[in-house]
Amino acid sequence: MADTLPHDFTPGDACLQNKIILVTGAGDGIGRAAALRFAAHGANVILLGRTVEKLEAVYDEIEAAGHPQAAIYPLHLRGAVMQDYEQLANTIEQEFGRLDGLLHNASVLGQRRTLAQTTVDSWEEVLQVNLTAPFMMTQALLPVMAAAGKASLVFTSSSVGRKGRAYWGAYSVSKFGTEAMMQILADEEFSLNGIRVNSINPGATNTVMRRLAYPGENPASNPSPEEIMPLYLYLMSDDSAGVNGRQFDAQPK
Ligand code: NAP
Repeated sequence: MADTLPHDFTPGDACLQNKIILVTGAGDGIGRAAALRFAAHGANVILLGRTVEKLEAVYDEIEAAGHPQAAIYPLHLRGAVMQDYEQLANTIEQEFGRLDGLLHNASVLGQRRTLAQTTVDSWEEVLQVNLTAPFMMTQALLPVMAAAGKASLVFTSSSVGRKGRAYWGAYSVSKFGTEAMMQILADEEFSLNGIRVNSINPGATNTVMRRLAYPGENPASNPSPEEIMPLYLYLMSDDSAGVNGRQFDAQPK
């Protein structure tokens, strides 16, 4: 049974003040909403993604609202190699000296078909973007997260990362792997470096990915990314200090 947001949680206006938080896939959907909300609560947000124009639009929105300065870091997770992640870590080290939060959010859906019909190309893309890229990025960023003392690392899962279902193929496998990586890192890093590691299943949320996965569904029947943000704030803020190795649902069932 997954955990949910504590009923008594109310995010303080400045609950993320002075925190440096990196969000992947920050240009659209849930990542965009998280970046904007984290900034609104005082964080300096590093916007990472593959489409520069989308990242710039989020950057401009943060600046126009008068929130703390954001930064843009374009990176295509499909082709990025360890050197790219080391460069990212060096840049964060030089600019900020530490990283307080990392939200692994970027993912691709891949083919919605049986495993029997899944192409190797699509399998590789999904596993690379959804699982191998977060592994490499995490490995490179652990030292700057350790430097923060009590950093929060949040992985994005899915209901098919907890129970396999027909036609969810490589995406489902990548999310099971994500849950495993979360549990392993939680067991290793909390006692070692004070980094707490948890996962969020956003649940059906009105984004491009959801509309792609369910073309026949009325998009308005699902909550917007903004509506599921309280759990993201909770896990990134010190309100969840000590919470480690847990699987959360953003939308209670
Ligand atoms: P989305 O609207 O498709 O947004 C995904 C974001 O990831 C986009 O900003 C996209 O960039 C970025 N991205 C994709 N491939 C990338 C790559 N190779 N390199 C860098 N960035 C890349 O999806 P979403 O619905 O917000 O999903 C966010 C997370 O929630 C994902 O992990 C997803 O699996 C999970 N999730 C979503 C739902 C749902 O109902 N929406 C349910 C369960 C889990 P571009 O904008 O440039 O394409």
